Amino acid sequence: MNAVAAHPATTTGIAARVTGLTKVYGSGEAQVHALAGVDLAIEDARFTAIMGPSGSGKSTLMHCIAGLDQATSGEVIVGDHSLATMSDNELTRFRRHHVGFVFQAFNLLPMLTAKQNMLLPLDLAGRDPDWPWFDELVDVLAVADRLSHRPTQLSGGQQQRVAIARALMSRPQIVFADEPTGNLDSGTSGEVLGFLRRSVRELGQTTVMVTHEPSAAAYADRVVLIADGKVAGQLDDPTQDGILNALRQIGA
Ligand code: ADP
Ligand code: MG
Repeated sequence: MNAVAAHPATTTGIAARVTGLTKVYGSGEAQVHALAGVDLAIEDARFTAIMGPSGSGKSTLMHCIAGLDQATSGEVIVGDHSLATMSDNELTRFRRHHVGFVFQAFNLLPMLTAKQNMLLPLDLAGRDPDWPWFDELVDVLAVADRLSHRPTQLSGGQQQRVAIARALMSRPQIVFADEPTGNLDSGTSGEVLGFLRRSVRELGQTTVMVTHEPSAAAYADRVVLIADGKVAGQLDDPTQDGILNALRQIGA
């Protein structure tokens, strides 16, 4: 572990817990039970991958834990924050201070340099950057020689590394990544997944990644399988073969 670390570890070893989570979209005949009673603990300082068939509820689950969407019933606890009863304003504040996001499409602002992109979320939250932490992230994500470049001057892999550094700048309780390698070729995907893996192992950054690629999920410490809005299984220290088998068993 490095001298400077990500969000301080919890005393419970659990970064987030969901209990009896349901999410219903629409009403009447158009009703969809996207989540049908999910119980799940996300461990601290570990890399969790969420997998499952298309439409099984992966994104909905992630959005409910990240405070991007409100569950219909059940409980979501992140650190010592209970999300179920939060207002929209409270959820916005919660997201700004306690979670980081990495997107498939990178979502860097084109008119800003890599460094400015990294600092933007803190600017928006009215917080001063922690410069030793900034330096640590620049080092771990190997973006030191790219800080003054704009996104169009960076490769896809470099852009995603900057986006990961941006997500970690506020020392969030959890970083959420939804298909972070969906726009990258396989070589670059491996490189970016290696950097996500490093940010968990070396910086203690709790990370949750949604992916449909067994090769990507194999980088995680644990794979959680979702089917029909429920947890259908979990794999620790997963291998690509083990993941493929487990997916076959749930009919994915
Ligand atoms: P996944 O990410 O596993 O592909 P989602 O969480 O996106 O699955 O979706 C789960 C189910 O909820 C799907 O049937 C999807 O069509 C439905 N759903 C997701 N978002 C909405 C929404 N905003 N309105 C209505 N239905 C939705
Ligand atoms: Mg999805």
